[in-house]
Parts: sequence; structure tokens; C-alpha cells
Amino acid sequence: MSALDLDRAARLAVARAVYADVPLYDPKRAPVDLDLTDNTNLWGVPPTAERVLREIAPSVITRYPSLYAADLKQALAEWLGVSADMLVTGAGSDDVLDSAMRAFGDPGDRVAASVPTFAMVPIFAQMNGLAYTGVPETADHTLDVEALLATAPKVLYVCTPNNPTGCVTPLATLRALAMRHTGVLIIDEAYAEFAGVSAVQLVREFDRVLVVRTMSKAFGLAGLRIGYAVGQPALVTEVEKSRGPYKLTSLAERVAVTAVREDMAWVQEHVALAVSLREQLADSLRTRGFAPLPSGANFVCAAVPECVAVGQAMRARGVAVRPFPALPHIGDALRFSVGPWPLLERCLAAFDAAVAEVLPDRAAAASTGVSA
Ligand SMILES: *Cc1c(COP(=O)(O)O)cnc(C)c1O
Repeated sequence: MSALDLDRAARLAVARAVYADVPLYDPKRAPVDLDLTDNTNLWGVPPTAERVLREIAPSVITRYPSLYAADLKQALAEWLGVSADMLVTGAGSDDVLDSAMRAFGDPGDRVAASVPTFAMVPIFAQMNGLAYTGVPETADHTLDVEALLATAPKVLYVCTPNNPTGCVTPLATLRALAMRHTGVLIIDEAYAEFAGVSAVQLVREFDRVLVVRTMSKAFGLAGLRIGYAVGQPALVTEVEKSRGPYKLTSLAERVAVTAVREDMAWVQEHVALAVSLREQLADSLRTRGFAPLPSGANFVCAAVPECVAVGQAMRARGVAVRPFPALPHIGDALRFSVGPWPLLERCLAAFDAAVAEVLPDRAAAASTGVSA
């Protein structure tokens, strides 16, 4: 037995039983020249936040951060028009989602979500000893409301705009879900800035709705790990207990406060740019005979047969997009993050070459204008 095998055997013996099937997250994100796989802000970091980052005093780092990021909660509250006691922060919205599942789910309780959706959701459920049920979305990429409610979940997760499809769930559907669902409704709005609509107002009407958001996408701060959620005070307090103190670093909190208070014009400008380029990218895919789904996010998802092989062929040309094999009602698909147009042009050139290589019939049909 090698040292590694011994280590494995020792670990297995002491590991929590429910962790046996928990994978380490692997989005297959090997370094590549142009990475369009993770929907981060390809225009960079907001300028004032970047200055704060560079000028941070060593004393900020030697001391512990604030317990529950009160300054950031205050800044977010003013921006969102809620009170600071309606906010909870975390080390990325991943941390907030994980904490929320732990806060509201007793071991064995059910978490339900539409399929496809954010890949981490079943993993967070497993990590907390909860039972996960995925309910396929309808053929028109909307939530199957009856089937979701029929699973009688303790925690119901809805992502809007949805990752990976980009589809937006109307506020009326969310309100109907909130009215009928007896557990906690988590609405993940990681991409809400790009949709121009938000469900934050629902937290005033319902005491079991938690709207989870992030500064990793529109705000360009993924590496600092800053997420938050909005809900009624009694609800967010439970998430905060589960999350624990000192989760946000001092550095992250300072940069985030500055971004919210002083960089909103930059954020809005780049959101508008991403939205316009998203439509330009969708048009470019349609011109090539592909059918992108309507997106409210900073990415475009399109059915592309042999998506893994096409993705690999693109990667061989220095460009990465994310393949999603065999999605319900969609089949194989690729998800393209939106960035500055020169990057998207490079991506489309790699896509064309990959399609010509992997799907020669499809490429020929596109060039004659006949959709395959
Ligand atoms: C990117 C993403 C997140 C994670 O964001 P972090 O704040 O970086 O943890 C959460 N939900 C969805 C749907 C995402 O796409």
C-alpha cells in the first residue's frame, strides 16, 4: 500500500458517512489563454475599489476583521433600500447558500431545485446531510412549479437568471412559490444586475424568502469572496448563526464597501455593456444556425451537439467555454461568458473552427444559411 492509499483508507474510516458521495468541486477549469467559463467580470475590478486594495494599511491585516461585516451591511442596505438588519454576508454567496442550508435544514430534510441549475446546490445539500431532489424544468425553460412543490422541500432553491440557461423567472412565479411553499425559499440572484429585475422586494412580503447575491459577477470581485443575502431580520439571523463570525476578511469588506459606495457608475456602465454584447453574441450564434436561449445574465447558453468535443476543440485553440452535456429539453449545450467584443470575436473564431472540425455538416449548413 502506498502512503496515499494508507491516507485514503484512514480518511474513509473516520469520514462522515454522508460525505462518501461528496465530490471535490471540479469545473475542469485548466488554465487557458481566454477563459469564458466562469461568468466573472472580464473588464476587471472597479477603479476605486482597486485603489483601496492597493493602499490597504498593514494594520488592517494584523487585526481580526469585524464580526459580521457591519460596515458592508450598512453600505448594501443603503444601496438596496432595506435596513442593515435584513442583511447577512459571507465568503462568497457560496458560503451564504451553504450556511442557509445548514441553518434551515435538519439532517435528512429535503432541498429541491429545478434542473438544470447552479451545480453547487446538490453539493451544498450533501455537505449538510440534506436530501437533494432535482426537478427537470419545463420544455420552455420555466420552473415546473407543481412538481417542485410536490417534493415538499424544507428548502426550495431557485436561481434567476438561471445558471446555466440564463432564463429569468418572473416575479409573479416567485411570489406564487413563496405563497404556497411552507419552507424557506432561496432565490439566487448572482446575475440579477444583468437582468435589471430583482426579487428583493419579496422579502418585505414573506418572512421565509432569502434573496442571495454576490459581488463576484457584476462587481468583478470574485477573488475576494464576497456574497450576501437579504431577508427579514429573524431569517438572516439564523443564517448568520450558521455562518459564524469573522467570515469576511477585512480586506474584502473594505474593498466591497468602497465598490458599493463609490463604483456604482462603473458597475452600471459595464453591466449595460455586457447586456448589449450578450445580445450581439446571441445574434452571432443565430447567424451560425444555433439557437441561444434568452438570457438575462452575462452569459449565453446555446444547444450545441457534441458539446464536450466542441469545447475541447475550442480549448485546443486557446479558448474555454463551459460544456453542459444532456440538459433536459436542451440536450448538449455550451455556455459562453460575455466579455469585451474583441474577446468574443476570438471566441467565435475558435467556435467556428471547432464546429468545422467536430460538426462538419453543421458548419456547411451554417455557411449556406440553411439551419441544420
Ligand atoms: C457564480 C455563482 C455563485 C457563486 O458566487 P460566489 O459569490 O463567488 O460564491 C452563486 N450562484 C450562482 C448561480 C453563480 O453562478
